[in-house]
Formats: sequence, structure tokens, C-alpha cells
Amino acid sequence: MTAAVRELLPCGTDAAYQRHVRAGDLACDPCLDAHRVAVGARRPPPTRIYRSRDEILEEWDRHRGLVRFVDFHTRVGITAAAWRRAFYRAQAEGDRRARKAATDHPGFPARRAA
Ligand SMILES: [Zn+2]
Repeated sequence: MTAAVRELLPCGTDAAYQRHVRAGDLACDPCLDAHRVAVGARRPPPTRIYRSRDEILEEWDRHRGLVRFVDFHTRVGITAAAWRRAFYRAQAEGDRRARKAATDHPGFPARRAA
């Protein structure tokens, strides 16, 4: 008996893209598109990148009280130090958005176990 021949997937699939690569030729456009989609699907969703302090403060203003101050930097894809710097500088400049939620202030009554 001959070995079963796997049906080759047509161009426009990631499998066909891999076939192009293995054969050492240039993938055709439909295969390139299929490969981009396949690779994109495997990646975790990108963290949103904020470009300006203004944008970050707007985001903070919308989420104050919903996201903890110490965790907020992960949401906007910057370091904790960069976030504190941006926040306190804005606060020093009197930016109304640079306010913490009551729950973010040290000494806020800790929640009791029910
Ligand atoms: Zn192809």
C-alpha cells in the first residue's frame, strides 16, 4: 500500500504559506495574508500604547475609582515610576485630572472580612 497522501491545502492558507517557505520560494500574496492572520491570532492582544501624558490622564480621569492607582500603569502600558512621575507632575501643575480616588489614599479604611 502506498502512504496516504495528505491533501494539500490551497494557496491562501497558513499551511500553504509554510509550504512556500519550505520549498524556499516566495509566498504569494494570498498566502502572506493568511500567514499574517494566523500569526496575529496566536499573539495576545496588544497592550494599548498611549502616546502622551494627556492621553494617559484622560484615561485615568475616566477610570478613577475603578482601577487602583498602583495598578493603573499596566493598563496604559507604562512603568509604575513613569506613571507616578506623570501624575505628580500634572498634580503640581494643577491639572484637575491628577486626583486620586478616595480608595487610593493611604489610610482609607481597609475592607473588613464579612
Ligand atoms: Zn501561495
